[in-house]
Amino acid sequence: MTLPGHIINAAGTLTRLSGAPFAPGVADAMAAADAVSVDMVAFHAYAGAKIAAATGADSGLATAGASAGLLLAAAACLARDDVARMNALPGGRGPTEIVVARSHRNSYDHAARVAGATLVEVGLPDPTAEAGRRDVEPWEVAAALGPETAAVYFTATRATYDLLPAVVDVAHAQGVPVIVDAAAELPPAANLRRFISDGADLVAFSGGKVLGGPAGTGLLAGRRDLIASAALQCLDLDVHPADFAPPAGFIDMARYAGLPRHGVGRSAKLGKHEIAGLLAALDCFLSETDADRHARWLAVCERVAEALDGATIAHAGDTDRIPVVEMAFPDAASARARDADLRARPLPVHLGTDPFRPDVLSINPVCLREADIGSLLAALSD
Ligand SMILES: *Cc1c(COP(=O)(O)O)cnc(C)c1O
Repeated sequence: MTLPGHIINAAGTLTRLSGAPFAPGVADAMAAADAVSVDMVAFHAYAGAKIAAATGADSGLATAGASAGLLLAAAACLARDDVARMNALPGGRGPTEIVVARSHRNSYDHAARVAGATLVEVGLPDPTAEAGRRDVEPWEVAAALGPETAAVYFTATRATYDLLPAVVDVAHAQGVPVIVDAAAELPPAANLRRFISDGADLVAFSGGKVLGGPAGTGLLAGRRDLIASAALQCLDLDVHPADFAPPAGFIDMARYAGLPRHGVGRSAKLGKHEIAGLLAALDCFLSETDADRHARWLAVCERVAEALDGATIAHAGDTDRIPVVEMAFPDAASARARDADLRARPLPVHLGTDPFRPDVLSINPVCLREADIGSLLAALSD
């Protein structure tokens, strides 16, 4: 069947292009989950334990995407164990501030504001303004922390990894948890553990990017009490309180005065089939080494690059990164025109574009299926 909107995706795991193809085993796991009914708390606890094992965290939670994970992470840091605050979010009494470096701000941090947080910016993005080199220093984060602080928000990118341990130190010195957005930081697989091992309290990953799970899934890994608070804020708890008996390793009910009602996390609900698909994707990702994954992608890049005059392959020797074919154009206008032509074909072809290098178009192998490669090469040779 041809779906409306069918395209060739050589741009990578973009949400607007429907994310990654399912990893092997995902579709079967989702169908198997669909065939039965489950107690969602028990299934969530099982998934959480798998996520904890994969990340080295105390606990974990399957989420409806990294963005939903960030919303729940913020909600957990705002409410902690306070059930009344869970019910009151995005309002209520208590700390409301989440401290973030200006250079870490991006449109996904809206998730923290949805939960009820006010973002407090520190630092100056002077490196991107080419007017300095400081960006943000740990003392600037420390100086912004106070009784109104609920968390520190940290966006993990290759440029910021090394800063995380020092930011964790200053935050923990004042009892403040650190939330890390690591949505797109796979590969390398070691990053599943890296930010937790650097001391982050909650780390969010996308399930629908390189992991190859359903597009509407993600992982949240972190501290047991905060994961439990996040879970309480997205589970359906419309039961007699005496009947709610989750595994204590997932949610320790001794910490709570009662059960919250549906709150800010309800819109981040996840179905059993999505959790099953996410776990299958995680298993598949862990069963393949970075080197094997990279070799698989590189083989696609080499087939494409051979057919193109003057194309080069970036990251061909770096198994921590996704190899991509790059085509350089004389200027940004000709690259844009070529890109537009390819997207206007009867079977549209989407290539990768980079606002910082507007004269380059790239071919990312992650979402290319075997059946796409012939159409891609035909389009590129037109
Ligand atoms: C993709 C992305 C997100 C959102 O992830 P979803 O799983 O699509 O919700 C958040 N932050 C960053 C940095 C991302 O790249």
